[in-house]
Amino acid sequence: MLGLMQDWPLTVDRIIDHARSWHGGIEVVSRSVEGPMVRTTYREIHGRAKQLSNALLSLGVLPGDRIATLAWNTGRHLEAWYGIMGIGAVCHTLNPRLHADQLCYIINHARDKVIFTDLTFLPILIEHRAKLDCVEHLVVMTDEAHMPADFPALCFETLLAQHSADCAWGGFDENTAAGLCYTSGTTGDPKGVLYSHRSNFLHTLGTMGADVLGISARDVVLPVVPMFLANAWGVAFSAPAAGAKLVMPGQHLDGASVHELIETEGVTFSAAVPTVWRMLLQHLRETGGQLSTLTRVVIGGSAVPEDMVRAFRDDYGVTVTHAWGMTETSPMGTQSSPNRAVAAMDAEEQLRYRLKQGRPPLMIDLKLVDDQEQVLPHDGQASGRLKVSGPFVVREYFREAERDILAADGFFDTGDVATIDDQGYIQITDRAKDVIKSGGEWISSIEIENLAAAHPKAAMTAVVAIPHPKWDERPLLLVQLKPDERADRSEFLQFLDGKIARWWMPDDVVFVDHIPLGATGKIDKKLIREQFKNHVVQPIAAGLSPEEPNAEEAPADAPGPFPPEAAGASPARASTLTMVALSGALMGAYLWRSFGPARR
Ligand code: ADP
Repeated sequence: MLGLMQDWPLTVDRIIDHARSWHGGIEVVSRSVEGPMVRTTYREIHGRAKQLSNALLSLGVLPGDRIATLAWNTGRHLEAWYGIMGIGAVCHTLNPRLHADQLCYIINHARDKVIFTDLTFLPILIEHRAKLDCVEHLVVMTDEAHMPADFPALCFETLLAQHSADCAWGGFDENTAAGLCYTSGTTGDPKGVLYSHRSNFLHTLGTMGADVLGISARDVVLPVVPMFLANAWGVAFSAPAAGAKLVMPGQHLDGASVHELIETEGVTFSAAVPTVWRMLLQHLRETGGQLSTLTRVVIGGSAVPEDMVRAFRDDYGVTVTHAWGMTETSPMGTQSSPNRAVAAMDAEEQLRYRLKQGRPPLMIDLKLVDDQEQVLPHDGQASGRLKVSGPFVVREYFREAERDILAADGFFDTGDVATIDDQGYIQITDRAKDVIKSGGEWISSIEIENLAAAHPKAAMTAVVAIPHPKWDERPLLLVQLKPDERADRSEFLQFLDGKIARWWMPDDVVFVDHIPLGATGKIDKKLIREQFKNHVVQPIAAGLSPEEPNAEEAPADAPGPFPPEAAGASPARASTLTMVALSGALMGAYLWRSFGPARR
């Protein structure tokens, strides 16, 4: 027997419809790419998105066509986003931080028909256009005054002005594809995650929970995390769904720009990766600035360092929620909001939980398994591969139907190594490919680098495995010092001494000018491993050397004396990144047709 309730497909056009109808006057403020602040409302965004839908239809866009955006977080990007999805086309957000070859590969793999680009990225597209064999139109997200003089492209504002806001949205199955986002390729070839309207809608509902993002109509929300990183962690949906004022930062994500926006617009809630918050905190320290309205920040994408949580809490009265997720989970997987038991603990005890990646919300199920797929206990000790399942978790990668990515139990292997404690909090100790396997035992690179990052002279730290003849791999600590600081290796080793097991002690400390970051703002460990694969370890002062391990410190269940002999230790999995560098050979197929209609 079926229920007798209304059939109301969960399509994302309903989110912006709701914002127009019930929060129509709420502001969306953008720092535009051209420079000035632009103030608009959900009502105007809705109308312009409909005009854009009509423009796309006039260009011959059909349901299911992939329409790409290469853009910062702005009101225009939001209009393109809803205008594309509303007519059943697929909004493919491109990450401009990727290498141009990777971008071209992704555009061609997705068969993007139209690209919406900010002025910022026009030069990249112009330079590499010969490699794109599917793109028919390029739309520059600006007005006529800022259009390039002699390049065949359409002008966003002109296109809108030519079309009415009378357009029917939706009316299709809620499982229709809505968005496409490729993983950055830090763990292999870029893979397309194809979100559906239903998965985005459910993710929005899931993240609106009080223990998740908890965005409300009283909030002023600043998504610093870009829309090209898994839908700005869903904020581009949840802010209009809640009726929150939205502040779009555009291209300037440095500490001073973010601070100015927070203070002038009264931001209460923001979300970003640790790198962005590091820049903001540094700016505040240098200028003596305050955060007068901000109360909550969500930090994710990589592990949040302890000193960052403390600084927000103690110096600025801001609560940090640590979140874990991935493109494949839409992306919110867990959040470190306290439950009743944790909330009853004192501040220092609570901090231990805030530093973990947290608990799954409804619609996310997690499993921790060992190499034999045996489920591991939630004791905070057993560490294994984290698997995930739910209605907004990937089932299959785009155009890779032959590749089976779900195990027999229907779970997706995240590639992360974690523990789960008795409160249900997960802690990510590493990515499976970044984990350091020393003498058959796992060393958490994340834990060491976060502890080292709390050293007062450290701006950023990274820990990677370097090959070792006896133990297979040993940790190497890279330190980027704060400007004008000087330090020697022993300072850092002494700082770590007592905080980690002796056998976790890095074999060496190397000071670098810059720790390389990948396209999603995470430390590019693959590159570092490659750079330091032949690193010759310099002898370190007696007493701090990991070569004098203390058997007592080995974990109780360590196999044999510590570190155990390397026999049986599996070799580190080689990276599978085989990015296809596209050649000019595709030139003949180049289809850019915008030349004619471009400058009407
Ligand atoms: P990519 O895989 O292309 O780098 P994602 O943004 O999808 O892009 O990365 C997801 C991965 O980022 C997770 O599998 C995990 O390894 C890491 N990650 C995300 N959030 C956290 C966090 N809070 N702590 C530690 N690692 C995290």
